[in-house]
Amino acid sequence: MHEQARAAIAEADAAVLLVDASAGLNAADEAIAEELRRAGLPVLLAVNKVDGLDPRLASAEFHALGIGEVHPIAARRGQGVPALLDAVLAALPAEARAAPAEPAEAEEGVPVAVIGRPNVGKSTLINRLFGEARVLVYDAPGTTRDSIAVPFERDGQRYTLIDTAGVRRRSQVPEGVEKLSVVKSLEAIERASVVLLVTDAQEGITEQDARLAGHVLQAGRALVVVINKWDGLGPEQRRKVRRDLDLRFAFLGFARHHFVSARHGTGVGLLLGSVDRAHAAAHRDLPTPALNEALHEAVAAHQPPLVRGRRVKLRYAHQGGHNPPVIVVHGNQVQRLPAAYVRYLENFFRERFDLYGTPVRVECRTGE
Ligand code: GDP
Repeated sequence: MHEQARAAIAEADAAVLLVDASAGLNAADEAIAEELRRAGLPVLLAVNKVDGLDPRLASAEFHALGIGEVHPIAARRGQGVPALLDAVLAALPAEARAAPAEPAEAEEGVPVAVIGRPNVGKSTLINRLFGEARVLVYDAPGTTRDSIAVPFERDGQRYTLIDTAGVRRRSQVPEGVEKLSVVKSLEAIERASVVLLVTDAQEGITEQDARLAGHVLQAGRALVVVINKWDGLGPEQRRKVRRDLDLRFAFLGFARHHFVSARHGTGVGLLLGSVDRAHAAAHRDLPTPALNEALHEAVAAHQPPLVRGRRVKLRYAHQGGHNPPVIVVHGNQVQRLPAAYVRYLENFFRERFDLYGTPVRVECRTGE
């Protein structure tokens, strides 16, 4: 029985532990519950054969198993089964429920997009990055795609540059006609795992920069902010750029900022390190037990507010996806949690699991 349970758990995205209300809690239930806890899956507890009994009383002793959601059911009559099915669907990780989107991982190595307004220095920066890298064979220029993929290798790590700047076919583009193509940028953002958003310190941080950053955030991509042309700026100008960054990029607190000069190469060497860290964070596996521990600590440090006189109860959490990391929080009335509290949880999880460089999404789901 144990072997079978173990094999089933190994293949599962979620588990339903079925117990018998008429027989009561026994040692075998406890053993399987222990097994499930170690597997770190979302688990639902179905207490069967409650027909003819008070469902609450009949299932009370099974709370001792310490498995989040308890569903009293009567399988023979179907009582409580639709609600159980809904709960199973809600507990499944997002990727098990929906057909997966085209995976960014399909590109070879870490797919990196370099985006930004015209003339901020994207081509100069890319040539700098390539200057120290081994550029591998790539799709020939002249392709009709808006962006081309250029694989390269540095320090034994592979990347694929999603080239929208047209660095590799610039000769075909007459000087000065390049406009900011949002469609091209969006395509590159979609294909990338990590986006390098390049801005121009000498021009200042503009509304257009903020809009591009907004697209990255919306797509849920990992982000590294590059403030280019840092050379030749006086202290007052530098202070102004930092102030503008705080103002316009306030919503990008998760992203690292790099002040560089693509022309001179200053600071460029550190960029790929941040790309690596952001990529790793975006794809990190968050074990359910650790997530639950973090959730309980977050709640203990700062209680959720009262909503209509009742305290919102956060029961358990599990990971719902990668790139960006999605953390699904279950509880009572959780959809009424104020946005500020959800942000508090996001930041708590970010700090605990070192999720810097990537957006984190906390999704709230109701479940008794
Ligand atoms: P792109 O349109 O974003 O690809 O920008 P380019 O790489 O073509 O650069 C636009 C202009 O900015 C060129 O004249 C570059 O020489 C200049 N530029 C690029 N990076 C720097 C930098 O770090 N410092 C300074 N002062 N100029 C730069």
